[in-house]
Amino acid sequence: MASPSVSCPHSKLQVTVSPHAAEAGYSRRTPSQLAAAATPSGRAPGSSRTQAILLNDDDDGGSAADFAACCPAPLVLPDDALAVEPDSDGQSLRSWIQEKARNAVTERRKTIYVASAPEISDEVFIMSRWTEPLGKSRRHKVAVKPLEPEHVTDYLAAFYHGLPVKPYPGSTFRFVPWEERQTKNKKPATVPEYVGLAIGTSVTRIRARPPPDKKFTRQLNLTDILDALIANLPGDAYSVLLLVDHDLYEDDDDDFCCGRAYGGSRVSVVSSARYRPELDDYSGIDLGHMWPASHCASYVEEMCGVPKAKGKAKAKASPATKGGEDADPRMKPLRAAVEAARLAPPAEDDLYALWLSRFVRTASHELGHCLALGHCVYYACVMQSTTGMAEDVRQPPYLCPVDMKKVTRAVLDVNKRLSEDEYLAQRDMALFNFCGRWKQNAMFAGYQAWLGCFLGQK
Ligand SMILES: [Zn+2]
Ligand SMILES: [Zn+2]
Repeated sequence: MASPSVSCPHSKLQVTVSPHAAEAGYSRRTPSQLAAAATPSGRAPGSSRTQAILLNDDDDGGSAADFAACCPAPLVLPDDALAVEPDSDGQSLRSWIQEKARNAVTERRKTIYVASAPEISDEVFIMSRWTEPLGKSRRHKVAVKPLEPEHVTDYLAAFYHGLPVKPYPGSTFRFVPWEERQTKNKKPATVPEYVGLAIGTSVTRIRARPPPDKKFTRQLNLTDILDALIANLPGDAYSVLLLVDHDLYEDDDDDFCCGRAYGGSRVSVVSSARYRPELDDYSGIDLGHMWPASHCASYVEEMCGVPKAKGKAKAKASPATKGGEDADPRMKPLRAAVEAARLAPPAEDDLYALWLSRFVRTASHELGHCLALGHCVYYACVMQSTTGMAEDVRQPPYLCPVDMKKVTRAVLDVNKRLSEDEYLAQRDMALFNFCGRWKQNAMFAGYQAWLGCFLGQK
């Protein structure tokens, strides 16, 4: 497990893929492939435009090309999702437009509903214990207050600026007992194998099992939960996101799952359980190298097993730093983010904000799936797939240029008076303001500084 390295100066930044990427078989996209992935036709723009992207030429490229020129590649560290499945096909803008399962955003169905974590009724009070991690941890004693749905809703309203984001209307969700008919050869379990999820008058059976790693007493089956949501979809919902305090699993082979969306069915669920700061040591999280500091070149080299330069031996320059930081347009916003994050108080000072930062990032990812966004292979991006918590916290909160195009098109369908540039400027400002309220957290501070580099350019 990586040790916390809060004092690392992050003196060099990694904006290209890691040294492990080639070994893993991940082939990086060329600038013209990246440009092509962000056009409706799927073809690279004309050669002068491609040149503009490469050179960050203000006269020709436009704001989208400027933004693309500033976005780092995915890190692709050992065991990262793109290292495990290096051949994953990306979802270009063109393939997203052609995606048959995609629900269009319409005036009638444009609202994103956020449902608070289900209440626990007295009869299943034992379930309130299931949300607490088992075992010892350095931060175990710290009582972190529960995540407030308003904070999640506010973030999502900024992230999906232009779509109404509201609390789920009507009845609260409740966990209730589920009375399974006794079969002859089955003894009643001391801890329930099923619980009921009550929404209004309907009750759905939810499977519960001990997680394979025993980090919680029980975890809940997310497929059952999503089925309950599908049956209770408001008529004007573009999609519903349910917040859950309990640990989740999808199927028998699965250890746990933090979030899942059935985009075509307009439903998604995110669990806060594995993002609890008490589990950080267990999850192998290096608090000093979460995004944006995950792009620290010496951290990346360490994770890739590149031997450290000792004593006075000259450190091997990483490819990203050749020619100095000024030469690569990707350096400026990332450096601003890293510096802002470094100036934020230590993560331990506000564990609530730390927990919230991770949770809202995944909430925005799952809602991206509801908008039919696939997993991203092009850039470091909030829509990247992850293999676990350590990779999760290394990924950025922002949408890459390809995925930003998709969300913009979807949102502009119900905001026809706005130009693309107007929309992006408004959205950046909304996120900038949200992050400003949570600057005590390194991810939000970093995201605010990142956004600040693009404000006023559009
Ligand atoms: Zn996903
Ligand atoms: Zn992306």
